[in-house]
Amino acid sequence: MTGNHAASLVTTSWDDGHPLDLRIADLLARYGLTGTFYIPRNVGWPTMTAGEICQLGSRFEVGAHTLDHTALNRAADGEVLRQLSGSRAWIEDVTGKPCRVFCFPAGKYRRAQLPLVRGAGYLSARTIEFLSTDLPRRVEGLALIPTTVQAYPHSPVAYARNALKRWSLVNLFRTGALLSRRDWQKLAGKLLERTLRHGGVFHLWGHSWEIEQEHQWDRLEKLLATIAANKDKVTSMTNSELGSYAL
Ligand SMILES: [Zn+2]
Repeated sequence: MTGNHAASLVTTSWDDGHPLDLRIADLLARYGLTGTFYIPRNVGWPTMTAGEICQLGSRFEVGAHTLDHTALNRAADGEVLRQLSGSRAWIEDVTGKPCRVFCFPAGKYRRAQLPLVRGAGYLSARTIEFLSTDLPRRVEGLALIPTTVQAYPHSPVAYARNALKRWSLVNLFRTGALLSRRDWQKLAGKLLERTLRHGGVFHLWGHSWEIEQEHQWDRLEKLLATIAANKDKVTSMTNSELGSYAL
């Protein structure tokens, strides 16, 4: 072993702007961690008020998630541009801060649309590729940010399907190695350990309403406590800050 240890980075992201995101924010604050909240303007369920989003934005990063939670892959260019530019302007208006980070609703996009995302003023975009501990990669001038684990009890089949869909053999290998681990918190623990040992990124993401529905608050808190216990070995950052590491 050499003393040349790669950095271990931790980021978190939370999608869709449900009022329970405020509970996530309190948990992150309690453990000295940060993250990015991706909020659409209109979506078919309750979201935080503009006042709450503004307050959240004073403590955490708020990123765009289209105006209407629109899956970009099936939308025409004009509509894609409207959703991208409109949501950036809306987030900036509500938070009073620049917004340079975007998250694809349902993780859907076509590669040909990436220049539109960059053209709308974004520097980074979060995907739903998971089981990754890699740094973001630069594509079409945009930092594409993968994720490591979702705070949700997925079946092993869902993990395998995600890896296969993206032809990610490395991720599939990790899935195979961990296939029996239905417990996302244990899977997260393993992948966090790998990041601490070998460097790389641990990116936890989720939906607060799912955590509520699946009764995962205790598990989430335990994981955040484990990360906090390793604070001297990891650097906690927002998705945008991570994006600036893009290779
Ligand atoms: Zn979403």
